[in-house]
Amino acid sequence: MKKKKILARLIELRKRDPFYDGGKILSSVCTQPSEISLEAYRIYADVNALDTHVFPNTWVLESEVIKWFDTVLGGVGIAGYITSGGTEANIQALWAAKKKYPDRKTILVPKSAHYSIEKAADLLELSIEWVPLDEKYKADVGFIEQMISDDTLAVVLTAGTSALGVVDPIMEVSGLCSDVFLHVDAAFGGMVLPFLNDSPRIDFGLENIDSVTLDPHKMGCTPIPSGCILFRDKSYMSNLVYDPSYLKSPFPSLIGSRSAGFIAAVWANLMFYDVEGYRRIVGECMENTRLLLSHIDELEGLSPVVEPELNFVALTGEYIKEVHDMLVERGWRLLLDRDSDSFRVVVMPHVTADVVRAFVGGLRECVNSIR
Ligand code: PLP
Repeated sequence: MKKKKILARLIELRKRDPFYDGGKILSSVCTQPSEISLEAYRIYADVNALDTHVFPNTWVLESEVIKWFDTVLGGVGIAGYITSGGTEANIQALWAAKKKYPDRKTILVPKSAHYSIEKAADLLELSIEWVPLDEKYKADVGFIEQMISDDTLAVVLTAGTSALGVVDPIMEVSGLCSDVFLHVDAAFGGMVLPFLNDSPRIDFGLENIDSVTLDPHKMGCTPIPSGCILFRDKSYMSNLVYDPSYLKSPFPSLIGSRSAGFIAAVWANLMFYDVEGYRRIVGECMENTRLLLSHIDELEGLSPVVEPELNFVALTGEYIKEVHDMLVERGWRLLLDRDSDSFRVVVMPHVTADVVRAFVGGLRECVNSIR
């Protein structure tokens, strides 16, 4: 096939799916990557970060990324690396937990945890004790306190659950985990909470946090795939290292070959936006979340499942299925959650105030036509 034809076919297929800009995408936790991150990706697309013999300089970028997160998350000298996403990061966290406590088998996991935790438990042959949720859909602290035993390997909490956007009581539970591995899955909330005032803490200043998952390809506005696993110190990573004779230096990543493209993309965004830039991005998303909530307040029969702490609104109500179907018919990308009878509106950077207003207009019409 000729290049022109190949490109035309790609463009034609791509256009069948929506674009973030104008695409009415409300259900996604990802967004349009920044221009600079795409440029960075392209510059490094041919570099294999695994091959430190041929490409010894990528680690400079990656270590600057980890340093940046260290500054934002407590400055205790954390270690970590850029993963292919939250799933890999969660697997690595529980693998490190298993290495730390090889004789223990049980992990305490709230029912709201991302399914990658279940995958990790399956792979690592750990047994899950499911933690019930309280009336605010947060992990039940009392249950965790009661259930921690000599066999407890780890407790997993989430900062931004996938269906409802809930932040578990990390501070309270961290106080219970002096002799248990505590992993915080902040795949979504990790690029939000540190940039908000008076928000729940996910930083390593909380003594007993061992590891944090955080995904730049969500609120960090980098291209997929780019996640991150952060550990309290480098000892956790050294337990995950393999050192084959034909490679120059050992590395603890789950995957082998890694595109340095996504490392460069994360680095570029952190340098470009820095803390102030992310404060601005997150601030705007929260403002648009409040705009959405103020309009929902006016609509009878619809309400958020929980009061949002993040730019994430899970909507429910008596006619939620009908409303959902009508909105989807009108082109809005939404998806019902089977457990909670709600759909999520993730107020990502592409969900601007204009998008919120257009959505609320449609929502109002649907609700009025049903009632
Ligand atoms: N953890 C949470 C809380 C998530 O919401 C997600 C994905 O949405 C993940 C982990 C998995 O991330 P990924 O899809 O990047 O593997």
